[in-house]
Amino acid sequence: MIIQLKSNIEPDQKEAIIKKVHSFKYEANEVSTQKGTYLIGIGTNEFDIRQIGNMPGIEDIHIVSDSYKLVSRKWKVKPTTIDLGDGVTIGRDSLAIMAGPCSIEGEEQIVETIQHLKDNGITMMRGGVYKPRSSPYAFRGMGIDGLKIWHKHASAAGIKIITEVMQVSQIEPMLDFVDIFQVGARNTQNFNLLDALGKVDKTVMIKRGISGTIDELLYSAEYVFSGGNEKLILCERGIRTYEKASRNTLDLNAIPILKEKTHLPVIADPSHGIGIRRHVEPMALASIMAGADGIIYETHSIPYKAFSDGQQTLDFRESAQLCKKMRAAYNLLSSF
Ligand code: PEP
Ligand code: MN
Repeated sequence: MIIQLKSNIEPDQKEAIIKKVHSFKYEANEVSTQKGTYLIGIGTNEFDIRQIGNMPGIEDIHIVSDSYKLVSRKWKVKPTTIDLGDGVTIGRDSLAIMAGPCSIEGEEQIVETIQHLKDNGITMMRGGVYKPRSSPYAFRGMGIDGLKIWHKHASAAGIKIITEVMQVSQIEPMLDFVDIFQVGARNTQNFNLLDALGKVDKTVMIKRGISGTIDELLYSAEYVFSGGNEKLILCERGIRTYEKASRNTLDLNAIPILKEKTHLPVIADPSHGIGIRRHVEPMALASIMAGADGIIYETHSIPYKAFSDGQQTLDFRESAQLCKKMRAAYNLLSSF
């Protein structure tokens, strides 16, 4: 049960509602976000919602049978839109495209990538400055200095930044230089990180865990939401299966399932999802047809020289072609 409280609720009204919730043998968890205050009722007893629905101080009340609550579409039927400002939105009648290198490598690469994005009408740039690498000897990113150089060029060009945050201590120094914090697949269930991201006023994109279920991804989002941050995006990036022919198995099933279960925007990452450059395009197009609100993919001027993930990275010609096809696919789908 989700009880949305009126913004001008009196303390004694709130107390009376909590008492009522307890009388149904439900726990009442209070959640305050940037947008409102909610009581999340957790329990299993059946009761008549009318016994509580007209109490003073209640804005709205919903029975949500899912065990995640605030991210459930049973509560919020209308899909959520993320507004990054300057006309950049995710999840409303447009296809969100996020493109850029796996790793931020230097100023020259930043500048040429931004030019490529601008030439192709892309307003969000991806790139890692903190890189989770399987080997400790691999390139681990330029860190905060790289982010600052990137931000200088991106903000001058009107490009939004999405980049991975790996640990709680990085949030504060990164805050002024990012538009979307990415939670990587290795951190989907880093609950301390999710709690901390619940406290920031910045959009968060959570990737599905390497071996994570769809419900586990939704619970991770519930952590951030219930921590206070409603600005959330989910990302299907492929899961580990027994299949060895591709890096991961991009779970296209997850896209319509997530779109049904949650009101949050759903982005697909075909680069990590399949891990093979020549197959990124068909998987991006398939993700759009499956209902994705956007695509995040890797591109680099010279992919074989990329510091990381070159094998799945498109060059700028391939990236430009992909953009054209993705927009055509999205328009075709919208015309049905
Ligand atoms: C990335 O986006 O470069 C990345 C490391 O992604 P993931 O967490 O999905 O592996
Ligand atoms: Mn990568």
